[in-house]
Formats: sequence, C-alpha cells, structure tokens
Amino acid sequence: MFALSCSRLLLQAFPKQPVTPRVTGQCIRSMKTSQQDSHKKDDMPIKMENPYKQPPKTCILCNITVDFKNVQLLSQFISPHTGRVYGRHITGLCGRKQKEVSKAIKKARSMGFMSVTLKNPQFMKDPDICGIKHLE
Ligand SMILES: [Zn+2]
Repeated sequence: MFALSCSRLLLQAFPKQPVTPRVTGQCIRSMKTSQQDSHKKDDMPIKMENPYKQPPKTCILCNITVDFKNVQLLSQFISPHTGRVYGRHITGLCGRKQKEVSKAIKKARSMGFMSVTLKNPQFMKDPDICGIKHLE
C-alpha cells in the first residue's frame, strides 16, 4: 500500500513528459569547437611501446639447429632408465623442435650413432636440460 502511494506521488511529481533536448545544430557546433580549443599540442598522447608486452615464448632449442650427429645433445632427451625419448611434457620443447629431436634420434639410431635400448653411459652425468628430478 505504501509503495503504491509512493509511486503515485512520484508520478504526480514527475508527470510523464518526453524530454526532448532542444539543441540546435549551431549549439552542437559551438560545443565541439570549444572542446578542440581546449586540447593543446603539449597535451596530446605520447606514442610509446606497450609496457605489458610479454617477451616471445621460446624453448631451449628454438635457436639451435638439431643435428642427428650431435649425439650428446640428443642423449639429453633420453631417459637413463628406459632409454626412450622423453615426451614433450617433460622436455618442454615446442612442437617443432620436439619433432626434430625425435626424428634426429630416430635417424641417429638407424645410422648407428646411438644405442636404441639404453642411454650412452658416457653422457649419464650431463647437465639435466629437461629439469627432471630423479628419485635417489
Ligand atoms: Zn622451440
């Protein structure tokens, strides 16, 4: 009941009349010119580099050419326990380089540069570029 009366009061106070702004063309033009005048040359935005731009994502092999004769590099992507090639989720390489590495390993194995079933013991103590923490 109270709400109803309130709305009635409001209606009485502000009768429905479409508010039509009487702005002539001249008036708009004058407003625009006044705004343009307020902008001085010193106040214009300065062109600058995007400060939030992130550096391009690169993997560890992005700038290195993978060669099938570089057995030491290739053996770093092979598990010392199983002798198999690490997956992309472990190596952290981009898709292109992961494919290149796996192809190079395949080629090196077929050519006889690398053993197929195990990691070369010569490279067992190489730095771990894949960042794997083996249980000891
Ligand atoms: Zn890459």
